[in-house]
Amino acid sequence: MSREIATRVARSLRWGERTVTVLSDGIIRLDGGAMFGVVPKVVWEKRMMPDEKNRIRMGMNSLLVEGPEGRTVIETGAGGKDDARFQAMYGIERDGGLPERLREAGSPPEGVDRVILTHLHFDHAGGATTWDEDGTTAVPTFPNATYHVHVGEFEAATNPDERSASSYFARNFAPLAEAGVVEWVKGGDRVGPGIEILETPGHTAHHVSVAVDDGTGRWLVFLGDLVPTTAHLPWPWIMAYDLYPMTTLATKKRVLAQAHDEDWLCAFVHDADCPLAYLAPDARGRFLVDPERDPWIA
Ligand SMILES: [Zn+2]
Repeated sequence: MSREIATRVARSLRWGERTVTVLSDGIIRLDGGAMFGVVPKVVWEKRMMPDEKNRIRMGMNSLLVEGPEGRTVIETGAGGKDDARFQAMYGIERDGGLPERLREAGSPPEGVDRVILTHLHFDHAGGATTWDEDGTTAVPTFPNATYHVHVGEFEAATNPDERSASSYFARNFAPLAEAGVVEWVKGGDRVGPGIEILETPGHTAHHVSVAVDDGTGRWLVFLGDLVPTTAHLPWPWIMAYDLYPMTTLATKKRVLAQAHDEDWLCAFVHDADCPLAYLAPDARGRFLVDPERDPWIA
């Protein structure tokens, strides 16, 4: 069951008056060394076994939040616009991806009211657009949705530095601005009555996380690439992809302590096996997955 969540099966829980469904755009494989930064392979390979190309298998998880504010999709995965060579390089397996999973869950892309993106790297925002029928022009995948993005992230993606140019592709986000469907967000903004934007910088300068209120002030938080998998919970397990790793460290310390103190349910974008978890402190002062609590029982 847990392995299937990554690809085919949508799983839902009640979160106050809302329903939250974990869906996946599919599988992506990224270099294990890049995913774990300064952590040596002899240590990280015990957590995630790499393939023959040193890549680790990860999910591209999204959340569908259904409530009084309508239907919200958080994160869109890599999407299906990339050519076969690109998909092979990253070991992408989609099987219809997020749009198909949404249809199976009874919420087709046309019925989505808003999309929130943590940042604009291709494995998070690629699914925001789709080729039109001619296969030449990228158009919004969610034709009736507004797309919520941090303006600083959009500017960074539009003029990428040399180190980020292989992660930001204009076809994934420029068509959204051209279609006039982007709404800028910043930390503290409410997107709908119970969905709040949290600034969680480090992976990129304007990376955000997304909190969903259960109506009593308890949050389910989609952390995005601040903590991409449960393996990244220990403090120094920080991606080499992060532009500002010391900022990631400071953000992690602040956010994970708050997550524990306020009993957040945490969502992990790239964890194929454990997309949701509560946190508990260990003897070394870290916050790791609480093995005692089932995240699917709210
Ligand atoms: Zn990512």
